[in-house]
Amino acid sequence: MAEPSASLPDTTPLPAPAAPKLVDVSSLTLEGLARFLTEQLGERAFRAGQVYRWLHQRGVTSFDEMTDLSKALRQKLKEQAEIVPLVKDLEQVSIDGTIKYRFKTRDGRFIESVYMPSEDRKTLCVSTQVGCAMKCSFCMTGTLGLKRNLTPGEIVAQVHTVNREVRAREGLETYRPLSNLVFMGMGEPLHNFENLKTALSILQSQDGPNFSHRHITVSTVGLVPMIERFGQETDVKLAISLNASTDEQRNQTMPVNRKWNIEALLEACRKFPLRQGRRITFEYVLLRGFNDSDEDAYRLIELLRGIPAKVNLIPYNENPGLGFHTTGEERAEQFRAILAEGHIAAFIRQNRGRDIAGACGQLANRSGQDAAQSTQAPELP
Ligand code: SF4
Repeated sequence: MAEPSASLPDTTPLPAPAAPKLVDVSSLTLEGLARFLTEQLGERAFRAGQVYRWLHQRGVTSFDEMTDLSKALRQKLKEQAEIVPLVKDLEQVSIDGTIKYRFKTRDGRFIESVYMPSEDRKTLCVSTQVGCAMKCSFCMTGTLGLKRNLTPGEIVAQVHTVNREVRAREGLETYRPLSNLVFMGMGEPLHNFENLKTALSILQSQDGPNFSHRHITVSTVGLVPMIERFGQETDVKLAISLNASTDEQRNQTMPVNRKWNIEALLEACRKFPLRQGRRITFEYVLLRGFNDSDEDAYRLIELLRGIPAKVNLIPYNENPGLGFHTTGEERAEQFRAILAEGHIAAFIRQNRGRDIAGACGQLANRSGQDAAQSTQAPELP
């Protein structure tokens, strides 16, 4: 069994990077783009809609592709703005149809996104940071440390790029074949909240990809103060990565619990402003002999009492060297049945992309990440 991590995860937001010379228009909301075009380029406001639709409906990656703009405007944009690129570096296709994409950022970092097609939906698992500061001891991404936050443009570019890939691969006409987004890739989304919020605003925009709030889920390990802001400032669905039925267990696997324990986390969930008919999803990675006993299931029922909840039971994807093992199918089913008897809707999640290390907790491209510089660990607030 893995030893508890010696230090707490660093939940302080990273300082904003120095302002770049060129304005990254792919990271701007429609309002921000309108301000830039009118105030800095002296253009009329309606041009913002045109540029924005090229960027976020069509997903173009150069100003030259914006063919209904005048040559003079395209030239001005090239001189004062940029579309920050995310280059597909590698793709791995699983026997179950899952595809893991590795992208290279302009500063040479690597991130991963996972495409999971099924009969009724096409879902992308999106990353929000390069690496992660949260140090969950069962997760490969957690071993990398945090390198840096992704910009809104880099978060959105994962969606645009995979839309293009899926369109080409599956011979589709639509610009947006993806139907659902889950923010469960590399990084803790609420640790990069401002950029996440801007990215959500772009992804939900009618002039952009126009994803419904019902089709976007953001997962957090439990940054309690940020859960409140997330509930107030966004309208998408919340998932909590819980993975334990006692503080003792959770302290061992998820150091964030030593700052905000289960009680504080569930109190934030009780106060979360849920839309009618909506539930909070609790992700529970089953770890053999650690958190998968009958007693764990009974405790979980008590913990979730009074919260509109559903539980996703996730068979653990073993990572070499991390010391945890997979719960067998029979035990997972017994665990699920106990929750169901306790009136907790529980589902055993299908393991997707296991053979390509694209499943939950497996995202970590060692070759790319090892070459990158680790961010200095900031102090806990
Ligand atoms: S499980 Fe999520 S929050 Fe925890 S270390 Fe991995 S990526 Fe970070």
